Amino acid sequence: MPDSTLTPPVRAATTHVGEPFSVRNPARLVEEVGVLTRGRAAVAEEAVDRAYAAFPSWSGLGAHERAAALFRAADAIDLERAAIAELLTREHGKVLADATAEITNTAKTIRYYAGLADYVERETVLDDARGRIIERRVAMGVVAVIVPWNYPVLLATLMYAPALLAGNTVVVKLPENAPLALSATLQRLVQELPEGVLSVVAGSGGEVGVALTTHPKVRRVSFTGSTETGRTIMRDASSNLKSLGLELGGNDPAIVLESATVNHRLVQGILRGAFMTSGQVCYAPKRLYVHRSRYSEFVDAFTAAADELVVGFGLDPAVSMGPLNNKAQLNTVKELVEASRREGASVRPAGRYEGVEETDGFFMLPTVVSGLDQHSPLVQQEQFGPAVPILPFDSEEEAVALANDSEYGLAASVWSDDTEHAFGLARRIQAGSVFVNVHRVGASDASMPFGGFKQSGVGRGHGEISVDESTELQIIADRTDMQAQI
Ligand code: NAD
Repeated sequence: MPDSTLTPPVRAATTHVGEPFSVRNPARLVEEVGVLTRGRAAVAEEAVDRAYAAFPSWSGLGAHERAAALFRAADAIDLERAAIAELLTREHGKVLADATAEITNTAKTIRYYAGLADYVERETVLDDARGRIIERRVAMGVVAVIVPWNYPVLLATLMYAPALLAGNTVVVKLPENAPLALSATLQRLVQELPEGVLSVVAGSGGEVGVALTTHPKVRRVSFTGSTETGRTIMRDASSNLKSLGLELGGNDPAIVLESATVNHRLVQGILRGAFMTSGQVCYAPKRLYVHRSRYSEFVDAFTAAADELVVGFGLDPAVSMGPLNNKAQLNTVKELVEASRREGASVRPAGRYEGVEETDGFFMLPTVVSGLDQHSPLVQQEQFGPAVPILPFDSEEEAVALANDSEYGLAASVWSDDTEHAFGLARRIQAGSVFVNVHRVGASDASMPFGGFKQSGVGRGHGEISVDESTELQIIADRTDMQAQI
């Protein structure tokens, strides 16, 4: 059993005690999974002060010394993977296999960044007739990391790990929903790091989040979440021109070309992407465009495959899809499905419940929707849940136009037996990542730059580029020869 009274790391939120709040299991609303103290703005300010004070010594260490602490934390997280994954399933709703993969990938991601110590320390030195130019990267200072509840542990790691390795100090704000597993992993890091280098605060976005994004000592905000909040943060962070990394919402198209055989691999590939974590994934197929010659065959095969899904409590090994994480998200998806019904679309709930009643938690069956057009709300908006619209197209020109007809541009996929042809079409899609014959969590690993076009984001995460983005580029130049010219 996980520790049901996990609190944020001891070094966070100790002097200003806020109200306790209860985290409930979205698959069994009667179960309290844990209790956290909701910090106030003053707690965030105190954490920033500690991070500010810790910055000179932490940034003054060599990157390999910082990396050593990260490696130790990754080992500590691995040792507790099973308990943390179970805690994540209980507080989030996702099935245990997905929760375990998230914790496994968290430790791997920390190691990946720890392995980039040489990259952080690299300097380019150019000696020429006029003197010497050194080009180097230096840490910025205090970085605020704010993440959502859908992949809280991994998403936070993708932001704090490069920042810490580069020599920044970090304050992480926990999401209000699903804060416990992230808090548990961060405790392992806090134990390996000097005082103040990493602080953790719980609390609302409107109070603790704003306290961080407006704080004059915070130099960078690394944010993952909705486009709407991203806009607010961009405005708030303008007060002292903070550096920004914004990983925002998406409404990913998946295009099934005429040249794609509708077989088990294709159907399962799209189905897994669409319904993994109950569709609460930033880059998931959220609107499917299928060539008209394949349309009926695909809708039938996709619905039949969705009928095999088993919905219930994520710790039950028979279950393949958990509940949604929270009531607001469930209501959003249900409203989009109702709007589709009112438009006369075919709405087909699929799969079955196992071991739970629908009303035990925030449950919804995976739902296949056909007969909508491009302007329907379920096609235009990010549903972030298990309801997927399928639309036909007649030509590749039309498919590209439909896919690009969105203010979002996070990811997309093209499906075809002819991979070269799919790569060609992929070049015409306006999205930060375009996958070929795959589209689900894991397709973009920690080393692949990731981020959105248009209103899906600003900047890039993952990979070496996220180390670059949490540093300033500095030039040190001796142009002695110029003196002679004056
Ligand atoms: P959200 O924007 O409501 O909340 C995200 C975080 O921001 C939470 O911790 C919240 O407390 C905080 N917050 C809210 N208002 C704030 C403010 N004014 N100032 C500072 N912080 C504030 O997002 P959500 O609904 O929790 O998450 C779902 C969204 O996240 C979806 O749109 C999804 O696509 C997106 N997402 C994007 C990525 C990506 O990599 N691009 C990854 C995961 C999720």
